[in-house]
Amino acid sequence: MNTPLLETRDLHVWFDLERGGRAHALRGLDLTLAAGEGLGLVGESGCGKTTAILAMMGLLPPSATVSGEVRIAGQDILAGGEAGMRPHRWTDIAMVFQGAMNAFSPVATIGEQIAEPMRLHRVAEGKAAIRRARELLELVGIHPDRADRYPHQFSGGMRQRAAIAMALACRPKVLLADEPTTALDVIVQAQVLDLLDRLRRELDLAVVLVTHDLPVVSYVCGRAAVMYAGRVVESGPVDALTSTPSHPYTGALFAAAPDIDQTGTGASIAGAPPRLDEEWCGCSFAPRCGRADARCRTETPLPVTVATGRITECHLIGEGR
Ligand code: SF4
Repeated sequence: MNTPLLETRDLHVWFDLERGGRAHALRGLDLTLAAGEGLGLVGESGCGKTTAILAMMGLLPPSATVSGEVRIAGQDILAGGEAGMRPHRWTDIAMVFQGAMNAFSPVATIGEQIAEPMRLHRVAEGKAAIRRARELLELVGIHPDRADRYPHQFSGGMRQRAAIAMALACRPKVLLADEPTTALDVIVQAQVLDLLDRLRRELDLAVVLVTHDLPVVSYVCGRAAVMYAGRVVESGPVDALTSTPSHPYTGALFAAAPDIDQTGTGASIAGAPPRLDEEWCGCSFAPRCGRADARCRTETPLPVTVATGRITECHLIGEGR
C-alpha cells in the first residue's frame, strides 16, 4: 500500500483549565488521507473537530498538550516541536480558518495580503508574489484585476474565495477547512463547496473539511469521520453513512441537522455531550442514546470494521439489537 499523504496516529490533546485540571479534548485520532481525497470531520460543537485540525497545524494555544503523530508523506511533522513544524506549516499543510473571510486587514489590498505568506515563506518575492496572487484569484474564480481592491470591495462569498486562495499561496498538499461556509447564504455556500471540490480534483489536494452538517460533506468528500466527545465513533464512505448509519449518534446527527438543501428536521439531539474534564464509564453517548443498555453504561465500545473502509464504535454491532 502507498504511504498516505496525511496520517494521524493516536493523536491526543489535553487543555489545562484555569480553574485547575485538564480537559481531554481529543482522545486518540487515527486518520489517513490520500492525495486528491476529501474527508469530512463531522459532529456537534465541542466534539474535537477544530481541536484536531489545529493540532495537525501545530497551532494550539500554550495551554494544550499534544501527543501522537501527524505524518505528511510519512514524515511526522510534530516530532520536532515548533521548530520542526514551521517548515511544513502553509507549505505542506494549510488551513482556511473559521471566519477567515472576515480576517483580512481593511488597509491592504487583497492581492498584497495573498502575496504576504509567499514572501514570508520565500515561495515568491516582489512582483512574482503579486503575479501569483493574481493567478490564485483566477483559480478561485475571481478576476485577477481585483487583486488591487480592498476587502470591503468584496462580497462575503468573494472574501471566502480569497481566503481559500491565500491558504493555497504556498502550494500545500493538504488543505484543512474549518466550517468554510458558515455565515454564507445557501447559494454562495454551494458555490464555495463546489470550488473546494474542484480544487481538490485539479490540484490533487487532500482536503479535510470540518463541519457540523454531515450532508454538506458530500459536496467535497468521499469519506467522513463522525466525532463525539473527542473520538471518531463512525467513519466510512459518505454515501454509506448517509443511507445506513450504523452508530446511533450518526443517525441522530443526520436527522437533526438542516443541510444545504434544507432537509432534515433542524432539531437538536436531546441531552449534552459528556464533560471532557471528567472520565466516564462505558460509551460516551450512552446518556443520550435511546438504544443504550446496561453494557453500554459499563463497557467502552471498541472500533469494529463493519464493511470495507467502514468502522463503528458501538456495542450494537454484531449484537443484533
Ligand atoms: Fe448507544 Fe450503546 Fe451504541 Fe453507545 S454503545 S451508541 S450507548 S447502543
